[in-house]
Amino acid sequence: MIARTSDIEKAAGVLRAGGLVALPTETVYGLGADAEDPAAVSRIFQVKGRPPSHPLIVHLGDAQMLDEWVEDVPPTARLLAERFWPGPLTLVLRRGRRVPLEATGGLETVAVRVPDHPVALALLAAFGGGVTAPSANRFGAVSPTTADHVRMELGDAVDFVLDGGPCAVGVESTIVDVTGDTPSILRPGGITREALEEVLRHPLAVPSSSSVRVPGQHPSHYAPRARVVLVEPEGLVSEAQRMREAGHRVGLVLPPASPDAAVPAHAVVRVPGSMTDYARGLYGFLRELDQQGCDVIVASVPAEEGLGLAIANRLRRAAGPRPTG
Ligand code: AMP
Ligand code: MG
Repeated sequence: MIARTSDIEKAAGVLRAGGLVALPTETVYGLGADAEDPAAVSRIFQVKGRPPSHPLIVHLGDAQMLDEWVEDVPPTARLLAERFWPGPLTLVLRRGRRVPLEATGGLETVAVRVPDHPVALALLAAFGGGVTAPSANRFGAVSPTTADHVRMELGDAVDFVLDGGPCAVGVESTIVDVTGDTPSILRPGGITREALEEVLRHPLAVPSSSSVRVPGQHPSHYAPRARVVLVEPEGLVSEAQRMREAGHRVGLVLPPASPDAAVPAHAVVRVPGSMTDYARGLYGFLRELDQQGCDVIVASVPAEEGLGLAIANRLRRAAGPRPTG
């Protein structure tokens, strides 16, 4: 199942030939292309159905490559890279000449990170260049955390799928903009705000969902097919009941400590007590409830601290307004 050396070489060949490779990272599976090949990068947008103005993350094999890919690396970026790479932290910096505008959605900044996954790192080493990779799902949908999710969702549209097993982190990277005077979090993710603040030694603002212009922050992203309804934990069971009486097939997401009473739902997921396990399982159980035919998922958000901040962010986006028509 897990990629072998021959698979890595094959995948590197596909990238060199301008193809698309789905690759495992510690966060979610990515849909990768040679970052320096504008045609290959454009294909990513086609396959995902993602608007071309929405920038991608460039994945690098190690932090030493930073200066080749970005201009003017500030000391703060070096500090964060040294502390958190390889790992689920993406830094937004000034675009270097190697990065085509196709990869940045036309922006003069570029998002870069070094992923912490042995298969991703082996591919990046074999390939030698940068790999642009958004999550390997259709635009707006739930991100894949296993190779099977990728195959189910993208099928033949991807030239090669590298299997690296289930993703350990399970939610996307934290994106930090380090182009300004003070760093700011553009998207909460696998590296917690608290861990960043400890290194930076100052508090970081987390954007409200309305003020941010990155696609991961738009209404209805990371969304299952089922409509997601968020309520306070005390209201979970009554909301599920109400939805069921209204004729819906309800998936209910229960907090770890909730009592085992009979619940008015077609499918019930009890979230794990540890936030690490919750993040790891989040997208899998949203998919699972879709597969069980639920058309409504009733859930509540966890406390917004540690990984709970990223989990709450994804649930709120999943519950965001859907495009109509
Ligand atoms: P994805 O990999 O599809 O989960 O999304 C990549 C995320 O990185 C998106 O939210 C992008 O908007 C964000 N991103 C990539 N490049 C930039 C950039 N130059 N400035 C701000 N955000 C970026
Ligand atoms: Mg995505």
